[in-house]
Amino acid sequence: MVMGDMVLETELLVIGSGPGGYAAAFRAADLGLEVTMVDSALRPGGACLFHGCIPSKTFLFLTELIYDARRAAEMGVSFGDPRIDLERVRGWRDEVINSMADGLALLCKRRGVELIAGRAQFEDERTVRLSNSSVRRITFRKVIIATGSRPIPLPGIPFSDNGRIMSSSEALALDDVPESILVIGGGYVGLEIGLIYAGLGARITVVELQDRLLSGVDRDLLAPLEKRLSESFESVRLSTRVGDIQETEDGIAVTLESSGEPVIAHPDRVLVAIGRTPNTAGLGLESIKIARGANGEILVDEQQRTSIPHIFAVGDVTGGVMLAHTATREAKVAAEVIAGQPSVYDVRAIPAVVYTDPQIAWCGLTEEHALKENIPVTIKKILWKYSGRAATMGATDGVTKMLADPESGRILGLGITGRHAEEMIAEGVLAIEMGALAEDLALCLHPHPTLSETEGEAAELFLGSSTHVVAK
Ligand code: FAD
Repeated sequence: MVMGDMVLETELLVIGSGPGGYAAAFRAADLGLEVTMVDSALRPGGACLFHGCIPSKTFLFLTELIYDARRAAEMGVSFGDPRIDLERVRGWRDEVINSMADGLALLCKRRGVELIAGRAQFEDERTVRLSNSSVRRITFRKVIIATGSRPIPLPGIPFSDNGRIMSSSEALALDDVPESILVIGGGYVGLEIGLIYAGLGARITVVELQDRLLSGVDRDLLAPLEKRLSESFESVRLSTRVGDIQETEDGIAVTLESSGEPVIAHPDRVLVAIGRTPNTAGLGLESIKIARGANGEILVDEQQRTSIPHIFAVGDVTGGVMLAHTATREAKVAAEVIAGQPSVYDVRAIPAVVYTDPQIAWCGLTEEHALKENIPVTIKKILWKYSGRAATMGATDGVTKMLADPESGRILGLGITGRHAEEMIAEGVLAIEMGALAEDLALCLHPHPTLSETEGEAAELFLGSSTHVVAK
């Protein structure tokens, strides 16, 4: 790297230091490349660390504790009402984030990845200009764009500076706990954040345009969560459109349109959680004429290569499934291809987890997808009322559902609703990626008493008999 005239030269430039960016930078450095990573934020970690996965799961952990402490009374242990010190809650979140951001900065150092703060904008296919930075320009041989995504506002209604109309980022700042929040969007972000605030005492209403929550999730997996949400949330209004939002002197007026007369809601805050859009604004992509999709996402092939051969893109900025672990896999592929390896993004089972309580996790084929695409499947389910471990935890409202090919018995999909689904889903991912048969899973010993036994027993059902379920 040559310093001078505030211009850096680097072999590989990575723009963005989220799970896509840092995974790419680290893999490339491990493969011997000289790497510079730039981010407009001062510290590495991206949306995932600062405004997404980590703060939301830190708070959800506390929400679960509050719920469990209340429930423990039924089991003979009482803690009394929770006393919430919001400043300390935020402090705990910040401790988690800071230690992870520090860890990433240290990993950059130890790998020799040059980390630079600044906003990058392409000048041409070999140069970016930086603003808000001590470096003016960086020239590179190869570049990986990993600039992520940002929340979409409602059409014509921007997120407000006073915090009344919030995005997920503002909601996770947790400045205070208002009395009531209207959550627009019944996807995982809206439900997770809704549950956080409900746990802290806010009254939550969720409004969803479609006739169901969590579109794409099988209905039978959703049912236990719907039951729980009906207790935790004030209301869930499906098939409802938000017509207008007016900020008044003392609050907000939101017009809700469904089949009857429009209704005006007056929540203290509105959380808009209707999705995210690729972060390409201000990147100067027009200067390099890179191919983009209908939503502005950067188009890539299975090696994460864009329409310009030495420019790669990974993570949310490429659209599709916007998850941290897909970003990480794509990042490793891009780094390996740049280092000359024949890698491709070839994933059969993408796990997805909704960190509600109960959680919902799935991977591979879902029943809804199989029906839509006319894919023949055999489906077996174990309700958690048959699980000893679920009984010990008072968490019998779960279900483990397995989909297999009717001819070969090969496992095609796994869906789980219940506590710790987040960890259990990994068995399904491994099974699908390894081409395992239901018989393989049935013959694996699952320790007792664990929730993973429901996976073993669901697999047994394909063979005609499982210990705790009488075959019909
Ligand atoms: P990001 O993490 O968004 O990082 C992009 C980085 O690029 C940012 O640091 C940004 O500052 C930087 N940048 C942008 N433009 C420029 C520029 N011009 N110059 C320099 N730097 C730039 N995913 C999961 O897998 N599990 C979860 O549980 C989960 N929970 C979530 C909860 C919430 C509330 C939200 C909002 C998201 C959640 N996600 C979750 C999604 C996850 O956060 C994203 O999929 C992930 O962060 C994408 O990683 P990325 O590297 O593509 O981009």
